[in-house]
Amino acid sequence: MADDTFDLIVVGSGGGALTGAALAAKAGLSVVVLEKTDRCGGTSAYSGGACWLPGSAVQQRAGNADSTESAREYLGHLLEAPDKDRVEAFLAHAPELVAELEADPGFEFEWLPFPEYFDAPGRVPMGRSIQPVKIRRDALPEAAAALVRPPVEQDRAGLAGRRTLTGGQALIGRLLALVFRDGGTVRTGHRVAGLLTDGGRVTGVVATVDGASVELHARRGVLLASGGFEGEQSLRTRSGVPGQAAWTMAPAGTNTGEPIQAARSLGADTALLDQGWFCPGPLQPDGRGSFALGVRSGLIVDATGVRYANECLPYDRFGREMAADPSRRVPSWFVFDGREGGRLPAIAMPEGDEAEHLAAGTWVRAGTIGELAAAMGVDGPALAATVDRFNGFAADGVDPDFGRDRDEYDTFFTGGPTLVPLDTPPFTAARFVLSDLGTKGGLVTDAHGRVLRPDGSVIDGLYASGNASASVVGAVYPAPGVPLGTAMVFASLAVRHLSGNV
Ligand SMILES: Cc1cc2nc3c(=O)[nH]c(=O)nc-3n(C[C@H](O)[C@H](O)[C@H](O)COP(=O)(O)OP(=O)(O)OC[C@H]3O[C@@H](n4cnc5c(N)ncnc54)[C@H](O)[C@@H]3O)c2cc1C
Repeated sequence: MADDTFDLIVVGSGGGALTGAALAAKAGLSVVVLEKTDRCGGTSAYSGGACWLPGSAVQQRAGNADSTESAREYLGHLLEAPDKDRVEAFLAHAPELVAELEADPGFEFEWLPFPEYFDAPGRVPMGRSIQPVKIRRDALPEAAAALVRPPVEQDRAGLAGRRTLTGGQALIGRLLALVFRDGGTVRTGHRVAGLLTDGGRVTGVVATVDGASVELHARRGVLLASGGFEGEQSLRTRSGVPGQAAWTMAPAGTNTGEPIQAARSLGADTALLDQGWFCPGPLQPDGRGSFALGVRSGLIVDATGVRYANECLPYDRFGREMAADPSRRVPSWFVFDGREGGRLPAIAMPEGDEAEHLAAGTWVRAGTIGELAAAMGVDGPALAATVDRFNGFAADGVDPDFGRDRDEYDTFFTGGPTLVPLDTPPFTAARFVLSDLGTKGGLVTDAHGRVLRPDGSVIDGLYASGNASASVVGAVYPAPGVPLGTAMVFASLAVRHLSGNV
């Protein structure tokens, strides 16, 4: 059917998917975006919208010290066994992509101060991430505005989004507007679970729509930008991804990995399958996890009442500390005092309701550290010793155990010292599990985003980006905005390639 044949089929509707769709539509290709849920944006819509796209005019305009060379140096110190072709393709194309998007009056970025996650050569003070400028919902075409998945707090509560779209909301809203403006088609409720082939070339997809199976055909290619498999426990277990599907930040019902499986059944290679973008996650009364960063006071202990890391570490690094000893550290306890009126002294998305936490036992509260330890089921003298030692560090302004307060990232969210004494009752302990922003192992791709077989040969017509692909940064989370920045760049490179524009 003519209606179901397009130049490009994009599977998924996150930041990478919609970047690819918008650029392809602008280039005059016929494009369809297939999204399995009834809203667009996936985890990208929940995100802060930080994009690590080094070397662009946006950082220059802001007087930021960024450059492609320093980004290369930074990655060079962090990445283990990188695919140099992909890294170079990313570095070369990031500024081009920003210029291409900003050439459109519908798109504008701004620099976002947000320190990079490692003190390594090439790091830029206050980071080099950029974000799409916020936009009012009513400035978007109605069709686009209606499709943007709300922020996580509202989405989980079944509420509508905000009037002004910021961060990931602005990214998804702006990109959707470009897709519609340039004649792209967006179909929600399309769950893609199979790929069509002709003589070894991928020529379309099979999707389930309202329980029925439909085929859609692609003249030039299929881009799998359908997220990872964080929402599918059996795949997580088989692949050895720490944490649980119940604790992931991906929106309910989104990323369960069937497009990755479909590509595997065609012989696609996979890598990094046990990897994710991790974070400490305050356990919610409904059993789900959430995303915490920016600790302002308090400390985190394991099941024996002992600290094991700098609580102010970038979230993926703290998550990896948890994953290093799950039997003791998952769950951990975030112990904090009453100085913020009983609220969690950190940014938590969502934080949850204090009374509901206390009723559910995801938080416990007491007037003394000894009573708190009893409520936590943790050895009282051990917790008391941890708190005493920490309070000594707070008095000295130095944490000889884990170096908290030393890095610009540690103090970024407090604007001052983070070694704050734990001495103001009541004392609260919140259960923290190991959450994630998505898995990041998946299909092996080349510098054009083409999906490869284990022998390095290309599966013609099949491209992947974002968490559906094995990340170009491997097991490391170098800086804010790397998930989105890399997803957007490789989606754009895929579109260039399938357009014959390379
Ligand atoms: C609170 C929060 C803040 C974050 N902040 C940032 C940030 O500032 N910068 C950054 O870079 N990263 C950030 N992240 C991480 C980042 O959002 C994700 O890692 C990234 O957006 C993943 O992009 P993706 O396109 O691969 O997947 P997603 O954005 O999750 O999109 C995948 C989409 O594909 C759809 N889909 C899945 N399977 C199918 C199928 N079979 N058929 C059709 N559709 C399918 C899903 O429903 C979903 O809509 C944040 C994450 C969270 C939770």
